[in-house]
Amino acid sequence: MKIVDLSMPVHGLRSPTYPGQPKPIKAALATINNEGYATNLWVLDEHTMTHVDVPAHFITGGDSVDTIPLERFVGWGAVADLTDLPPKHIVSADELKSRVMCSYTRGKPTVLLLRTGYDRYAGTKEWFNHPVLGSDACKYVVEAGFKVLGTDAPSPDREPYTAHEILLSAGVVIFENLTNLDLLVGKEFLFVGAPLKLVGGTASPVRALAIIMQ
Ligand SMILES: [Zn+2]
Repeated sequence: MKIVDLSMPVHGLRSPTYPGQPKPIKAALATINNEGYATNLWVLDEHTMTHVDVPAHFITGGDSVDTIPLERFVGWGAVADLTDLPPKHIVSADELKSRVMCSYTRGKPTVLLLRTGYDRYAGTKEWFNHPVLGSDACKYVVEAGFKVLGTDAPSPDREPYTAHEILLSAGVVIFENLTNLDLLVGKEFLFVGAPLKLVGGTASPVRALAIIMQ
């Protein structure tokens, strides 16, 4: 069994963040020298680095991370390679559809991962030049039956956050800041990205991974 790590590291103040988002704080609460054991205090925005957004992020009364069945966060995956598109491109339904790659023998993919390549720009200005999904592309994601949309960019959209509105309203959860999606191109894989059980959480950091089927 081959596992690919799809999560970016979480540092303390060195972590790249979205404009207006606070930096994570990591502080030692105890050290082996002083207390005989070590433990840290972490203060994190729910949307820190690799994380999953759920309906409560945009919809009043929408499902929070603790109430969504775990089945939603696990599924057969497909990748759409968007690396040929120009900066800030608005991806149409046809452009997305023609790039979805899957040759599945084990079941219909329910997880669609967008490979933009923008994870390599994390922490720079270029990071925010990633392509975004147009409304028709979001509708295609919903109508095609995907339950999860993931991207290796910081977001599938930018203000006014149309993709968040359309996908979360339809119950499609959104993984942001994934990485290593190049390793999944042409592969059959099971995606796993379980959130912490944060009561009322609008999102949660995750350790996302793909299990590659041989
Ligand atoms: Zn988010």
